[in-house]
Amino acid sequence: MSDLSTVLERWEPVIGLEVHAQLSTKTKMFCGCRNVYGAPPNSHTCPTCLGLPGALPVANEQAVNYALKLGLAVGSEITTFSRFARKNYFYPDLTKGYQISQYDEPLCSGGAVTIRWEGASREIPLTRIHLEEDAGKSIHGENGDGTKVDFNRCGVPLVEIVSDPEIRSPGEAKSYLTRLKQILEYLEICDCNMEEGNLRCDANISIRPKGETEFGVKTEMKNMNSFRGVERGLMSEIVRQAEVLDGGGEVRQVTLLWNEAEQKAEVMRSKEEAHDYRYFPDPDLVPLSVSEDALEQARSSLVELPDEREKRFITQYGLKEDDAVILTSETSLAVYFEATVTEGAEASDAAKWILGEALSMIKEEEGSMDSFPVAPDRFAGLLRSVTDGIVSVATGKSVLRKMASNDLTAAEIIEEEGLAQLSDESALSDAVAKVLEDNPDELERYRSGKKALFGFFMGAVMKATGGKSDPKVTRQLLTDALEGK
Ligand SMILES: [Zn+2]
Repeated sequence: MSDLSTVLERWEPVIGLEVHAQLSTKTKMFCGCRNVYGAPPNSHTCPTCLGLPGALPVANEQAVNYALKLGLAVGSEITTFSRFARKNYFYPDLTKGYQISQYDEPLCSGGAVTIRWEGASREIPLTRIHLEEDAGKSIHGENGDGTKVDFNRCGVPLVEIVSDPEIRSPGEAKSYLTRLKQILEYLEICDCNMEEGNLRCDANISIRPKGETEFGVKTEMKNMNSFRGVERGLMSEIVRQAEVLDGGGEVRQVTLLWNEAEQKAEVMRSKEEAHDYRYFPDPDLVPLSVSEDALEQARSSLVELPDEREKRFITQYGLKEDDAVILTSETSLAVYFEATVTEGAEASDAAKWILGEALSMIKEEEGSMDSFPVAPDRFAGLLRSVTDGIVSVATGKSVLRKMASNDLTAAEIIEEEGLAQLSDESALSDAVAKVLEDNPDELERYRSGKKALFGFFMGAVMKATGGKSDPKVTRQLLTDALEGK
């Protein structure tokens, strides 16, 4: 099998992503059933979401507001008068025989998602964002033991975010998806748990010879339900298409299903055209009209977005770009960092300690920043103790671990356990003098030119003071003493 890098020397991938994000509304898209994950099967259903004859849908205002918020955040044009349409297809988990979606009149058109790719900012333009309802979930029994359907998910509100075919590599696709997830999290409109299916990604993929402007035949890949899955699925399909074309064959327009366990794509069906779905305006729903008030409210609820915060962290706090990228990747991290600085820590120290020690402690506990037991004020206190030279970096790290299991401040732990460094010059001078006195041979060799023995003396002083002597002060005192000053 060819590898991706050799394929990319000759072929240019053209990728468009369709991301379905479940909106974290209280109730479903067109009925009053609760929108919750993990409830017993079919415990949140009603005639409307089960599609019983005669039941009438009513659009969920919170879902519309969430979609508006997203549209405004990514700079889409908002259609103040849009419509719901029926997308007709048969599937056991869709009892109505159609899905309520939006077709030629979506709520949001255009816009862009700014990603960071290979060290630079790049805008991936969006085609549209529309509202629709989710289908139920088929649960296939093992050994051909039938299929059960759970309709709790049926009617859960979704936004479908469709990008233009402007993504040029699997890595870029992953970066786009990461940014989109961050935006949804920042806006607090989606839980973004890929394992629970809150965020799902389909892709349209074609390739063309480098320099060509016409599009090749595209395939659609579904079921890439993790960031890694998206990257791997796209890689495999790009390589497959290149092999087909290089062998003189033609790419067929098919829908593929990514099998993460086996790391390969399976053909699901030949691709439908839009007209196969027989879209038509849903006669049960009034057109969606967005008032100026609703728009204004959505606008006023917008927050600073991840790429804006990233830029601000670089300019306001002088952070390195890589650090700013990680610190803004999750709201909780960014908030913790800023709170630590507000509590009096140096920004560069706060970044270093959060990205180093705090994150590794969180990883060990398999927790998250939200559950990190040391609040920013205590964390800042510890960082000040290190900056002020009261404890060394190594001692600081062990103090932080102690702080995680109690409510004491760093100062209290340092005091209680006598961890403060000896920086009192007279006490240190005595220790230095004693070390020199105890090692006359080494002293003589040092003074006759064997300067490498400095490390030996430094170690001896550290040992004599139980590792608590301030290294900087000790170094100076020891240098002076060895030189006979
Ligand atoms: Zn319902």
